Formats: sequence, structure tokens, C-alpha cells
Amino acid sequence: MAVIFDLQRFSLHDGPGIRTTVFLKGCPLHCLWCHNPEAISPRPVLSYDAARCTHCLTCLTACPHNAHLVGPGKRHEIDRRVCDACGKCTLACPSGALAIIGVASQ
Ligand code: SF4
Ligand code: SF4
Repeated sequence: MAVIFDLQRFSLHDGPGIRTTVFLKGCPLHCLWCHNPEAISPRPVLSYDAARCTHCLTCLTACPHNAHLVGPGKRHEIDRRVCDACGKCTLACPSGALAIIGVASQ
């Protein structure tokens, strides 16, 4: 089973012609110039966009595993040891700062 993290239509830069590019997670290459670090883990992962976060703290109560940690200076961290990418916090976040990267294909 593959885990897809992006579909890019009308792609002109990933080979000759116009194509649809399917991006899969689990890349083993670890290139120094990697533009898609979210592709390295083979599993779905939670992403956090600090620029969108309004520091409302809704995600702290939405997470069943207490994976969201907010420290001094509103420093927001995610405890990846306990996050299972269930996505509950992404549904609760009012500003779109949280997202699950990766969907398992059928
Ligand atoms: S994805 Fe689930 S486990 Fe991970 S931080 Fe959000 S609510 Fe918690
Ligand atoms: S719910 Fe969203 S906007 Fe609110 S603190 Fe969490 S990540 Fe930031």
C-alpha cells in the first residue's frame, strides 16, 4: 500500500511533456537539496504552519494524546513520540495551521 502526499496536475518540470505527478511518501534518498522533507517518513504525519497559527490553543484540548505543547513565548511544539496522526486537531484548528500529510491509497 502506497501513501500519497500530493497530486500535481499539469506538471511541466518533472519530465518531458505535460503529466500528472503522484508524490509518494517513504523517500529513502535524503538528498541535501530535498524540497519535500514531508515525503521522508513512510507514514502520514502532522504538519504545523506557524505563520497561520493564531495561538488559540484549541488543539491542546482536541488532542487525545496531549501531543501539542506550548511553551514560553508561545513556542508551539508537537510531541511526535505520541502523535499518531489521527487528525482530530486538524479538524479543530480554526485557522488551517494543522494538516495531515499523506493519504493511504486503496
Ligand atoms: S494528529 Fe491526533 S494525535 Fe497528533 S497531535 Fe493531532 S490530535 Fe494529537
Ligand atoms: S488550534 Fe490551530 S490556531 Fe489554534 S493554537 Fe492550535 S495550531 Fe494554532
